[in-house]
Amino acid sequence: MRSGCEIKSKSHIVNTKKKYSYDLLQRDLKDLKIKYSFITVEEIGKSVCGRSLYCIKLGYGSNKVFYNGAHHGLEWMTSLLLMKFIENVCKAYKSGKHIKGYDARELLKKSTIYIVPMVNPDGVELAINGLSKSHPYYNELLKWNNGSTDFSKVWQANAKGVDLNHNYDASFDLSKEAEKEHCILGPGPTRYSGECPESEPETKALADFTRKEDFKLVMAYHSQGKEIYWQYGNSTPQIARTIGEIFAEVSGYKLGEVTGIASYAGYKDWFIDKFKRPGYTIEVGWGKNPLPLTQFHQIYEDNEEMLILAGML
Ligand SMILES: [Zn+2]
Repeated sequence: MRSGCEIKSKSHIVNTKKKYSYDLLQRDLKDLKIKYSFITVEEIGKSVCGRSLYCIKLGYGSNKVFYNGAHHGLEWMTSLLLMKFIENVCKAYKSGKHIKGYDARELLKKSTIYIVPMVNPDGVELAINGLSKSHPYYNELLKWNNGSTDFSKVWQANAKGVDLNHNYDASFDLSKEAEKEHCILGPGPTRYSGECPESEPETKALADFTRKEDFKLVMAYHSQGKEIYWQYGNSTPQIARTIGEIFAEVSGYKLGEVTGIASYAGYKDWFIDKFKRPGYTIEVGWGKNPLPLTQFHQIYEDNEEMLILAGML
């Protein structure tokens, strides 16, 4: 059992050398809250299997922005990225220091940053720890995963085989048509959009939370591709491209154009469509999901300034 004093004296809480499971997320949130009592941690909903969907709130400014990670099971690297960012902002804020050249106290005076680091904890658990015999959907998941017990290289969906980033109310009908063309007819590892928008507790919680708050800008973190997606048809506000170009410059990622099945029913699509404000999908890293931890350092370096600027622009 670690004491509060031990936690407070630790120089690092978030370990970037381990696959980022739900258990690690829970432990780190507890420790961060002990060390940095000024952060708020709340539960905005629960997953299909009853895991908490945590939201961390940093700052007290009027400029409200929202970042989320791991809509997709294999993409737990994005949870780790957001958690490390939270820790580093807290550290700089507490000590009155700068982070990437920006005054952390100014940042949190100007902005309130809300972060849900793990939208799909059940999917992350399947991707990292596999399918246990006691899983409430054991038989179904085996079937949806084509009879394989290996979820470590394919599983993006939640525990009901729904791809959460295809489960929002933005061109949902087109998403359904595109699925059929790709022969996706029901629950599975990826790209099945569910029976209707927000059919899943995870997407419903995120959409409800977004409707309740008044976010000026959102960023949904995914992997991989080193790309920034910023458009959703005619609903895209003009400022979105300008901000996107700044993001591209500080991250070294390129501004992308989405076409086909990936361009419907995602969180950022829904946000842009509903609120006509800038929303981004950021695809971190390069290679095949799940990305290796050896990429973490570079991913963090590429994204830190963007995460700060998104709160300040
Ligand atoms: Zn993704």
